[in-house]
Amino acid sequence: MLDFSSLLLAIFLSATGITAVLLAAWARSRNDGFLLTCAVGAILVALSVVLSAFYAITPQRWLVTCAYVLLLGGLSTIYGTALQFRYDISPKRPVMIAAVLSIGLTIPAFMLGYNGVGFFIGYLAAATLLFLASHGFWRARSEAPGTLTAMAAFYFVICLSFIPRAILVALEGKAVLPGPPRNWAQTTSLALIITGVPALGALTFALNQQRLIRAQRQQALTDPLTGLPNRRALLERVAGIEGQAAIALFDIDRFKSINDTRGHATGDKVIALFGHTLLRQLDRGQIAARLGGEEFVLVWPGGDLDALARQGEEIRREFATLASHQLELTCTVSGGLARGEIAGEAFEHVLATADDALYRAKRHGRDQLQRVD
Ligand code: GH3
Ligand code: MG
Ligand code: MG
Repeated sequence: MLDFSSLLLAIFLSATGITAVLLAAWARSRNDGFLLTCAVGAILVALSVVLSAFYAITPQRWLVTCAYVLLLGGLSTIYGTALQFRYDISPKRPVMIAAVLSIGLTIPAFMLGYNGVGFFIGYLAAATLLFLASHGFWRARSEAPGTLTAMAAFYFVICLSFIPRAILVALEGKAVLPGPPRNWAQTTSLALIITGVPALGALTFALNQQRLIRAQRQQALTDPLTGLPNRRALLERVAGIEGQAAIALFDIDRFKSINDTRGHATGDKVIALFGHTLLRQLDRGQIAARLGGEEFVLVWPGGDLDALARQGEEIRREFATLASHQLELTCTVSGGLARGEIAGEAFEHVLATADDALYRAKRHGRDQLQRVD
């Protein structure tokens, strides 16, 4: 049988190591609060393990009492990590409730000297908190299926390992034990925790990395001024669409003179306003994007050109009205419409056709739409 104190020491070392990694990751951006919460949970568990090791040497009542306050407080915090990750809320309230309930149920037995009863309730309370953590990560799994399923599995296996510990203490039938129970269930559970702590720490860290990568990718695909997809994002989205689409290309009229006479900041407001107008008028299944400068596109897979022409007219009118009301500017937009295949290279071709129509709209006096049928 493995030495009890060595197992506890191994848990302490891995939990403190993981705490350091999570704290370092959290300190870098401070966006993902769940890292900090998890680090707090891990350090509480690590401290409880130290007290448990001392209790194994000198079984004093206050040591086991404090050890279980820390353990259940730590596991409640880890349950809070799952909630914070999933809902992006402050986990203080649920953590407090879980901690007060689990500690309130367990600690009186230890304080009164009935450590056998204390261990029994404590193991069940720990199993419940671990189950809640496992369930929380499982429910959030759509964000990062592999990582979150693995985390839910680790928490669940550790949760299960507390059940035989409780059963063996109950079977012993003693309200007062001379020290911590030592049996195969203890050893197995502690060995699983030794494996689980670094694995869970690494997986939690991986969750943070995956979120960072996703946020950076999102940033690279979004135009910051309008919040619309940029040209690259549009090309990615359109690449997977088979068949024909109706597209409308818009270009704000005499935009350079707005920049020159009213300043670049006002120019930016005009661009943002057109992006807003486009979004307001967007129907389901349509994609809007800012191609660059003061050029925008609306792609309607499977859509027909007549309906898009009517929608384009709405956009043109609404933009002029909003610019006059909100920015006190006379500002118009021209558009070119075309229809064709959009998969792969064909998209550039239909875009060029719409551009021809747009050029015609500009030549015919601007503030209008032209189309190529
Ligand atoms: P036309 O009616 O023929 O379209 O004339 P225009 O002045 O709108 O066309 P042109 O393409 O010559 O001018 C576009 C200007 O848009 C030039 C560029 O400095 C400006 N621009 C491009 N991107 C931005 C931006 O993000 N913000 C601002 N304020 N101006 C931009
Ligand atoms: Mg232009
Ligand atoms: Mg222009």
